[in-house]
Amino acid sequence: MSLIFATNNLHKLAEIRSAVPQLSIQGLSESGVNEDIPETGTTLQENARQKARHIYDKLGENCFADDTGLEVSALNGAPGVYSARYAGPDGNFEDNNRKLLGALKESVNRKAQFRTVICLIQDGNEHYFEGICPGDILEEYAGSKGFGYDPIFKPYGFKESFAEMSMETKNEISHRGLAVKKLISFLNTL
Ligand code: IMP
Repeated sequence: MSLIFATNNLHKLAEIRSAVPQLSIQGLSESGVNEDIPETGTTLQENARQKARHIYDKLGENCFADDTGLEVSALNGAPGVYSARYAGPDGNFEDNNRKLLGALKESVNRKAQFRTVICLIQDGNEHYFEGICPGDILEEYAGSKGFGYDPIFKPYGFKESFAEMSMETKNEISHRGLAVKKLISFLNTL
């Protein structure tokens, strides 16, 4: 069976290929898609669906897409689906982290969770897989690995931030890792 992963992220592709070697999984550029896929939903589920549908409708092949957000309790779930653009359309990871630390400056409630939703479209039918990683927003940066909000997020049960962990440890417990495990379990039943 072959499947398209609607992503240009080579790291995500390598990860899932090693987990399900019996499937042939192609990324967007290998599938000849070099355009920006619209992501205009107001929920992670809508965005994941929008990306997967776009590719399914265009190529007529089974595919899946993922979307992730950081949901901060004291901010009523923000930045959530807007995590990539929290500091504005031109903001980078650093700008996003600074804005979040500023927004929580006076807050004792540091609770947050990363949430990933994967949408798989198989023969036209949609299947969803969710992964959640709860933790706390730190008061200052810790570590330099990873990406995004990793230096200011400490998962529950750990002393280190995501940015202080090996990629293997992070993958074991992360939102995306957990959603991918559910997807893989499903794919393995096919
Ligand atoms: P995406 O949907 O996977 O592209 O994630 C959207 C945004 O959430 C990214 O631009 C990052 O800012 C943030 N993000 C997603 N996953 C992670 C993670 O594992 N660690 C830190 N930040 C993440």
